[in-house]
Amino acid sequence: MTMHPSSTDNKPLRIVIVGAGVAGCIVARTLAQCAGVEVTCLERVSRDDHSEAGTGLNIGPNAIKLLRAHDPALAGAVASASLPWKSWRTSLTDGTELFTLPLSDVADNDGVRIRWSELYRVLREGAGDAVRYGVTVSDIGREADGRCMLSYTAGGETVTLRGIDLLIGADGRYSDTRRALSGAPAMRQVGVAIFRLLVPDTSGGLIDDYEQWFNGPNRLLAFRVPPGHIYMAGTFPLRAGDEIGDADKSADALRRYYLPADGAAGDQCAWLVDTLCANVGAIHWARLQETEAGYRDGDAPLLYLGDAAHGMVPTLGQGATQAIEDGCVAAALIAGRLAAGSRDVGAWLQAFDAARSERIRFVMDVSLEASDTLFAGADPVAGSLKKVQPPFRAKLSRLYRDVGHASAAEAGQ
Ligand SMILES: Cc1cc2nc3c(=O)[nH]c(=O)nc-3n(C[C@H](O)[C@H](O)[C@H](O)COP(=O)(O)OP(=O)(O)OC[C@H]3O[C@@H](n4cnc5c(N)ncnc54)[C@H](O)[C@@H]3O)c2cc1C
Repeated sequence: MTMHPSSTDNKPLRIVIVGAGVAGCIVARTLAQCAGVEVTCLERVSRDDHSEAGTGLNIGPNAIKLLRAHDPALAGAVASASLPWKSWRTSLTDGTELFTLPLSDVADNDGVRIRWSELYRVLREGAGDAVRYGVTVSDIGREADGRCMLSYTAGGETVTLRGIDLLIGADGRYSDTRRALSGAPAMRQVGVAIFRLLVPDTSGGLIDDYEQWFNGPNRLLAFRVPPGHIYMAGTFPLRAGDEIGDADKSADALRRYYLPADGAAGDQCAWLVDTLCANVGAIHWARLQETEAGYRDGDAPLLYLGDAAHGMVPTLGQGATQAIEDGCVAAALIAGRLAAGSRDVGAWLQAFDAARSERIRFVMDVSLEASDTLFAGADPVAGSLKKVQPPFRAKLSRLYRDVGHASAAEAGQ
């Protein structure tokens, strides 16, 4: 199937975005302000539904740098709903510090700490009327001329959108769009269990900026998010492919995994473990996994963004961070091309791929490399100290600083 030559007629280009999450909202907001394009963003849940509301996110300095350059107003709104992420401290669960890394050593600006529900609220407000909420998307496919089509149902009414010049799948890790049009990407379990909990801050100031604590390869992390909550997450090794057993999801197991076997826990870990055990029924459990990266599918007028394009291990907090990078680059590129009179969707997609593929490979690889301390038998002291040695610092600096410009992909248009 070849791509429809959309550059030959003067009708507005039809762009449909599936998913008003992190990447989808950023793109929808920018494109809704562009001439020559008709944008529809379709979201499964209602506007105020935040399915992962019990979660906090640390968003890397790299995403903030790019968002400030692409959309300063949106970056300001994110900043208002968050706290700055300025440092990364790693200790043992008995309180022995291994390192403190000020992010200013490896980044040009701070990252942020934010509740998931707040990030979605800010981004969805920013996308405004471009998003249609509460829809069920079905029948996603290609038409004879190569363009895409889909149907959606909302409020009992079914609408079929035909002749879609560009379909953007921004519908998350289990993307129906990618599965329907390109097949489910290969997924790999890496052999680590992860859990998350968000609780009101009763720590009395024990927890603030981003910190991690190791007991062998078992790791806790925590930070404070506004308003007045502590986000905590823990990992422990699991045989790759195994489910997390009920015995692992108990207060007894959490104490065994995170309290030092010989000697007392530090004050911070004692509070974290007590709080986890008191809220064990509210913990969200998952496993670390990666999906095969892919932004495009041959010459189809299709673009996958965020988790739909690249599910990565969360060790460096780069999931939403990269969804923001993707969203900024895609939005700036398409807006720039439209403003320059280009309707050549195939050329836009090639430029996007050229701007992003190597970067995302690097981010996925460095996220996996940073997970070395989480595997069975890992030495957390040696592995953590390696994170502040020049080779890994250089990678962090590349990660946090070398974001390029959102509009770099427009070069050569
Ligand atoms: C518990 C947890 C903690 C995390 N912590 C961090 C962190 O600290 N830092 C970080 O950077 N990342 C973190 N991540 C990862 C991050 O949240 C994701 O990488 C990020 O949300 C991906 O953004 P996205 O835009 O690709 O997709 P999402 O934000 O997942 O958005 C996808 C949207 O598509 C919608 N959708 C899905 N299917 C359909 C459909 N069929 N039709 C219509 N709409 C659909 C969904 O409802 C959703 O609104 C965390 C993830 C989890 C689960």
